[in-house]
Amino acid sequence: MRLCALSVDLDEVHHYFRIHGLGEPEARIAHAVYDVAVERCLEFARELDVPLTFFAVSSDLKRAASAAKLRSALGEGHEIGSHSKDHLYDLVRRPREEQREQVQGALRDFEALLGVRPRGFRAPGYTVTDELLEIVREAGHDYDSSVFPCPAYYAAKAATMAAMRLRGRQSQAILDHPSVLSAPRRPYRIGRPYTRTGDGLWELPIQVTRGPRLPYIGTGLILAGKLGARALTELVVGEPFVNLELHGIDFLSAEDGLEALLGYQPDVRIRAPDKRAVLAVIVGRLRNAGYRFVRVDEMPRACAAS
Ligand SMILES: [Zn+2]
Repeated sequence: MRLCALSVDLDEVHHYFRIHGLGEPEARIAHAVYDVAVERCLEFARELDVPLTFFAVSSDLKRAASAAKLRSALGEGHEIGSHSKDHLYDLVRRPREEQREQVQGALRDFEALLGVRPRGFRAPGYTVTDELLEIVREAGHDYDSSVFPCPAYYAAKAATMAAMRLRGRQSQAILDHPSVLSAPRRPYRIGRPYTRTGDGLWELPIQVTRGPRLPYIGTGLILAGKLGARALTELVVGEPFVNLELHGIDFLSAEDGLEALLGYQPDVRIRAPDKRAVLAVIVGRLRNAGYRFVRVDEMPRACAAS
């Protein structure tokens, strides 16, 4: 069996400004992810004939125009997952009650604003703990897809946070416990600690390659260019499940008004059509290798059956 799921985390522009310590974005670009990127995702999905799973931050949907975009996505058969209520980067450090409100409150928002109850959860900044995953399970989610067992990403994040501290700026990001680096890289049922296999909630880790566990996510693939992305794809071809995570911003660029992010996110320099071309190459290669494209919520059942 070869299945691939493409998911898109809809972190709105203000989350990027916040994580880089840039304050609030101007109004004209504040909703570029929902106003521009989601439509581009839907076009991409139609043209390549792939289903998508959008992980959305529920408080962003209180803006009617943003909720309307996701209603279109639902109408086209795509899945909506929960990316929590407010995308608090330090969610796992908040009191249990607050964590529960971020998980359950998001589900209430999705039901009220979209009429759906997401089956999947993805934590802000990929950071989970046993406590948060227990709250996710208690809330009735079928799966979590947050664990990112990637030493290269971990090192890069640690370095960025250290550099920001040196420049006297405060990032809201926090580092995962290093044990996440030894978590399984294929889907598993969570044990205790959550980085081991057990009989709990399904975990669908963010994809890393075989061997050095390089990140196999949209932003990294786009930065690698067509040739690099092709080479990285060869290091996942053959895996029974490929869980490819993208972000809404992978469909945007500086030309869409995001110049302020240029010094912080190198991928913003790359034009949206060029980014899309890299993603299309990856989908084509995986399809040629026999992968069937599914929504993330189809993965747990397929994993259980395999
Ligand atoms: Zn996010």
